Amino acid sequence: MEKVVIIGSGCAGWTAALYTARANLSPLVLTGKHPGGLLTTTSIVENFPGFPEGVDGFELMTRMQKQAERFGARASFGLVEKVDFSRRPFLLTVDGEKVEAETVIIATGASHKHLGVPGEDLLETKGVTYCATCDGALPAFRNQPLVVIGGGDSACEEAMYLTRFGSVVHLVHRRDTLRASKIMADRALSNPKIKPIWDSTVTEVLDVKQDKVTAVKLKNLKTGAESVLSCAGVFVAIGHGPNTEIFKGQIETGEHGYIIPKKGAMTNVPGVFVAGDCADDVYRQAITAAGAGCAAAIDAERFLAAENQ
Ligand code: NAP
Repeated sequence: MEKVVIIGSGCAGWTAALYTARANLSPLVLTGKHPGGLLTTTSIVENFPGFPEGVDGFELMTRMQKQAERFGARASFGLVEKVDFSRRPFLLTVDGEKVEAETVIIATGASHKHLGVPGEDLLETKGVTYCATCDGALPAFRNQPLVVIGGGDSACEEAMYLTRFGSVVHLVHRRDTLRASKIMADRALSNPKIKPIWDSTVTEVLDVKQDKVTAVKLKNLKTGAESVLSCAGVFVAIGHGPNTEIFKGQIETGEHGYIIPKKGAMTNVPGVFVAGDCADDVYRQAITAAGAGCAAAIDAERFLAAENQ
């Protein structure tokens, strides 16, 4: 039986692993299908303290993993299919195998939101993508007009990255001001290859018949005017939703699925703790996720110590 199982391997998961490993609890980290989490899909991270020149997102996560493993954390590339928190020890089904745990730290993070417009799902990987760092350099996008949708830090970051490849990057946002931090917004808007399209949404991605992205249909929300904009790629950057589906009915969540901690990092189930973006719809930063992972680890350690007394 495991003393601590950590579900998720982003900033929250590996920080929780570091702290529980250093408490001699030999945590098992179930990495999920995206080891390293969302940060591995970003390029340079400039706001994680301790890296004055910035650090590559993938490298940062690899370093966190190595640091936790140095103290005895173990990684398993399993995907948790089911959890049973109604019994102790807790029971997890991981790729068909059963894992029992005295405590669980949920650090499953968040995933990219979809627009939900016609053409989006059918043309995913055929020009529609949710990650410029992963797909931006593909030949199909080189010297072609590209569209980024969103007005947050992610949209600005994606748009700036894509200026290396596209002939022009149209930044489509549903309002007339960006939500992004000032520094990111200023950088994006001062880039001559980024052309903002304000007050507009994409209502359809074309062209399913040709089995590739050729254009988007736009609607101006102020005037109601509709238009078609040619492009070879559509990069959706409209935020994230929590990865908490498998905990439905087991753990209390808020209206949008984010887990609500009850006391410190502990959920409504004693012995189950939560950290990072799956419980945070406010800050959602790498550093706040890491801090939450630390808090969850300390709470789990104290919980086990109190039980064993
Ligand atoms: P976000 O801040 O939630 O922004 C999402 C954007 O998408 C908003 O502009 C929103 O419009 C728009 N949007 C949402 N749903 C939409 C829809 N259905 N159709 C069209 N537009 C839609 O998400 P994010 O940019 O992914 O950032 C998430 C967190 O990560 C933030 O805390 C951010 O600071 C952080 N982050 C930081 C960095 C960095 O510092 N380097 C980089 C990336 C992300 P409205 O503005 O109208 O709501």
